[in-house]
Amino acid sequence: MIQDPQGRIIDYLRLAVTDRCNLRCQYCLPEGYKGFLPKSEILSYEELNRVLELFSAQGVSKLRITGGEPFVRRDLIFWLQEIARQKWFKRMHITTNGVLTLPHVETLERIGFEGVNLSVDSFDRENFKRITGRDELPRVMETLDALTQTRMKVRINAVVLTDHNLNDLHELVDFGTAKAVDVRFIEEMPFNGTGEVKAGVWDYRKILLHLSEAFDLIPERPEPNGTAMWYRIPGRPGRVGVIPAYSRTFCGTCNRLRIDPKGKVKTCLYGKDEIDLGRIIRQGASDNVLLASVQEAISRRHPNGKSAEREMLSDNKQHTSMASIGG
Ligand code: SAM
Repeated sequence: MIQDPQGRIIDYLRLAVTDRCNLRCQYCLPEGYKGFLPKSEILSYEELNRVLELFSAQGVSKLRITGGEPFVRRDLIFWLQEIARQKWFKRMHITTNGVLTLPHVETLERIGFEGVNLSVDSFDRENFKRITGRDELPRVMETLDALTQTRMKVRINAVVLTDHNLNDLHELVDFGTAKAVDVRFIEEMPFNGTGEVKAGVWDYRKILLHLSEAFDLIPERPEPNGTAMWYRIPGRPGRVGVIPAYSRTFCGTCNRLRIDPKGKVKTCLYGKDEIDLGRIIRQGASDNVLLASVQEAISRRHPNGKSAEREMLSDNKQHTSMASIGG
């Protein structure tokens, strides 16, 4: 079992399998971004298997595959089938932008994926193109349609962008919740690879106020270890969630650990990388050594994202692109 100094049990692993993406979202991986990892540093599927087996043996029961865009990684679907066969995790989820996902929807369901988070910030084609730099909304909508016909839990993630999609939030709710899709709005975080912190970013209170202008939002009980505040709209099967990602009201129950595409481990989204598991693996370390370094990193885990961020900024480091962390 992995437990941090605050007694929080870590049973959820978020694994970014690539930092490459086929979109250029302005808040994440803007056009011209230069920070990509050299391909040779990205962990191979064999190396990833080693990492997954290690965490599964320590009681981690939920895995989320993320990126970059996971489906730009070659042969991803074959590797997902392999890890599903291993039954390392009780719950497997994936976060995707939906551009290349459609051909894999059936397989994801068949091999036991419990949920798919689809990131869409606007249902308006022109606006989608402005935000992401690519005219891919039609393919994303096909994926959404196919996902809603499966038994998998489908969630839309939309980042609230003061300059871009405030007029689209109501439509996202209207369309999603009518289809039994949960629609979650995320506060924009300064993870765009430039270190720039924007002024005027909407926090969860402002987002909720704006949504309440159009919808009757009935608060729901929070999910254990969840990050979203949930609401139901009478008569609709899908829920609305707001994630105070930058306000960080949920750190107290955080049960997650993040691993980037080269194997760097983050014990807090807002903090620095704690250990380079990839480098340790490539030095030929035994499982015991790997585990000891993970335990050591966890023993330094901050109580919350604010103090983790303070330490990182005082080391003169800045937030990297979310594409290398996975959200
Ligand atoms: N490519 C996949 C996708 O688009 O879902 C997975 C990776 S993406 C980095 C994971 C999530 O992080 C997406 O839902 C995205 O909207 C969110 N994200 C990226 N940059 C963000 C930022 N600056 N603030 C808040 N959320 C962000």
